[in-house]
Amino acid sequence: MTTPHDDFTIIRAWQAIVSEAIHARATDIHVEAHEHKTTIRIRVDGELRTLQTPIELEHERVIARIKVLARLDIAEQRTPQDGRLAVGLNYTRPDVDCRVSILPTLYGEKAVLRLLPSLNKDLDLNLLGLHPEQLAHLKDAIEQPDGLILVTGPTGSGKTRTLYSCLNQLNTSGQNVCTIEDPIEIRLAGVNQIAYHPKAGLDFNSIIRALLRQDPDVILIGEIRDAMTAELAMQAAQTGHLVLSSLHTRSAIASIQRLRSLGVAGDVLRACLRCISSQRLVRQICSACQAAAFTEACQQCGGSGLFERIGIHEVLPFTNAIASAFESHANVADFTRYVQQTGFHDMRSAGMRHVKNQRITLTELQTQLGSWNS
Ligand SMILES: [Zn+2]
Repeated sequence: MTTPHDDFTIIRAWQAIVSEAIHARATDIHVEAHEHKTTIRIRVDGELRTLQTPIELEHERVIARIKVLARLDIAEQRTPQDGRLAVGLNYTRPDVDCRVSILPTLYGEKAVLRLLPSLNKDLDLNLLGLHPEQLAHLKDAIEQPDGLILVTGPTGSGKTRTLYSCLNQLNTSGQNVCTIEDPIEIRLAGVNQIAYHPKAGLDFNSIIRALLRQDPDVILIGEIRDAMTAELAMQAAQTGHLVLSSLHTRSAIASIQRLRSLGVAGDVLRACLRCISSQRLVRQICSACQAAAFTEACQQCGGSGLFERIGIHEVLPFTNAIASAFESHANVADFTRYVQQTGFHDMRSAGMRHVKNQRITLTELQTQLGSWNS
């Protein structure tokens, strides 16, 4: 049974949900329509949990509130919509950017808000979970005046934070830093960010050509998704620009294969690819539980024993020797063996170092990477 309530009740209820989500360090808020009720779930450290709402929410009015805040069409309830809004602990001064997606489902529209990290202090290469020599490879690559750096992994693997941490490091007054993104993920002061809307008639080709006339030093291309973006990224990287981008691949080595299959020639790769990093996120052992003995009443983790996530990375500097080895090895298994002899730590072995350092548990690592026989 839903009860009708006034605007003020809805505004207050929505603010209570937002505050609880922010306090819980949520990355997403899901507002879901069921047959007789609304469910609010939040994602924290990769896991969804249900929020207990103080009042029975009237679904359409919660969705309407979100649409108002995101300046979406309230009357439109049959087609998907997406937009942006800002939320915050102080409702008069919202400071957390969110991407909003609304989609009609069986019993009403479902809204998902992605809360984007807005604090530059979180965008620090030293805090991502890179092992010292991995960090050194990545820093070495972003200090080059040109070339391509790739950060790869599936959706939700933390690529965006890594890319923006690189940008944050490069974002000095002496450099013209630009991004082309669909959509813009995190707003960074001092960076020229361009939203790339394929549907709005702005094609990627014209944007990047216009951008290259704006004297950029560093360009972030949100994602290399097809042969055309790959080609344009390579051109930019070969003409005196440092290009950062992401690929949807499972490993550093798979990324090389992917670029080759997108039509990038071996000699072009050798000339411009500097470094590939691939990653996943794994839940960390709660530091408070570790310091005291684990208690079910731990304030920090609520008794789960896990708190926040850390990246596990594999970082492959794409040296001339590795470029030649890729072209000369007949198959991936042989090439992988060669790369491992150069001192490359794959994701599993990088994760095992976190296990040894008591940052993560073996179970959590295996959950993320799939279990293996060790
Ligand atoms: Zn704890």
